[in-house]
Amino acid sequence: MSQKLILVLNCGSSSLKGAVLDNNSGEVLLSCLAEKLNLPDAYITFKVNGEKHKVDLSAKPDHTGAVEALMEELKVHGLDSRIGAIGHRVVSGGELYSESILVDDEVIAGIEKCIPLAPLHNPAHLLGLRAAQSIFKGLPNVVVFDTAFHQTIPEHAYKYAIPQEYYEKYGLRRYGAHGTSYRFVADETARFLGKDKKDLRMIIAHLGNGASITAVANGESRDTSMGLTPLEGLVMGTRSGDIDPAVFGFLAENANMTIAQITEMLNKKSGLLGISGLSNDCRTIEEEAAKGHKGAKLALDMFIYRLAKYIGSMAVAAGGLDALVFTGGIGENSDIIRERVIGYLGFLGLNIDQEANLKARFGNAGVITTADSKAVAVVIPTNEELMIAHDTARLSGL
Ligand code: ADP
Repeated sequence: MSQKLILVLNCGSSSLKGAVLDNNSGEVLLSCLAEKLNLPDAYITFKVNGEKHKVDLSAKPDHTGAVEALMEELKVHGLDSRIGAIGHRVVSGGELYSESILVDDEVIAGIEKCIPLAPLHNPAHLLGLRAAQSIFKGLPNVVVFDTAFHQTIPEHAYKYAIPQEYYEKYGLRRYGAHGTSYRFVADETARFLGKDKKDLRMIIAHLGNGASITAVANGESRDTSMGLTPLEGLVMGTRSGDIDPAVFGFLAENANMTIAQITEMLNKKSGLLGISGLSNDCRTIEEEAAKGHKGAKLALDMFIYRLAKYIGSMAVAAGGLDALVFTGGIGENSDIIRERVIGYLGFLGLNIDQEANLKARFGNAGVITTADSKAVAVVIPTNEELMIAHDTARLSGL
């Protein structure tokens, strides 16, 4: 009898990402990406054995249509009967969920309750969940929340310093994100270093297009840089990160902008893109900075400085530092950013090992500090899909 496989789904409002994984080996047997959902020219792209092909979804351009097409594709490859359970990424579980959970009607109602905290994402997750329930009849569904890992953050770190009534009435507080990645990377770091995660004070920087940083002690999240929404914290691809909230009043008065326009500018037109005026893509920024582009150089300087400054403050949250961990597309690949960030951190006892730093890329884990460093810096590739598959298999009893 062959091992049951896990289908992992990540639904956005106009997209659906899927992957079929072998939970034991981590091998991805099939992946797909549906785009332009709810538009007449919706389509889904499948990748199987390195080959890609596109299927038109115009006859049924919604989440259900995409999951139906996925089921057809699984049948073609004889994979449909091997799926044992489905795991769903959910952006916000608010304060209701501190871990992954098997889906029942109560859980669906819980995800609905959290819609105000993730108004674009949670409704899309529910569409994907309902489509999966109706098309993969009888299979268990599990939800894995981006916020769950951060539910251990203490009150003095998750509250904003504003009147408590906004927390009490509206749940206005810091929730964080990237929790599934942090959980995976914390475990992998401990494994890689041959230590018990409870004995490690870690600062993990998840640096992708969206970027955040988390202090982990005793295996638990103690603080994180994203807040009520992913806008808070580090400089990101298109997000400003931390900014004086008075910019809203200032721009409304001086630039005649609306709240919606300012919010859009801070989320979509800022960060590396806004500073450089060129791109949100870190590779492009590094290339152009090397050629002397002023905006690209400033974008890199600001990204690196903000990150180093946050590492200092996260050392307070973790109660010290044993391991600084880089992950995400930038963290796993940019030796330049890692070297320059560590250049700020000599006072925490970190010294870069140039050669090791150059080697740690393209999915290779590695320690990138010298042996005489008081703490280690390490590169650990993340794998959120595998973490979702692990939770799904465990909770489904597979
Ligand atoms: P997302 O948040 O969309 O999942 P990823 O984790 O895939 O993002 O990271 C994407 C970012 O990683 C992009 O800014 C990209 O330029 C950057 N990146 C990928 N490879 C490199 C590299 N070799 N050097 C610098 N940046 C890189």
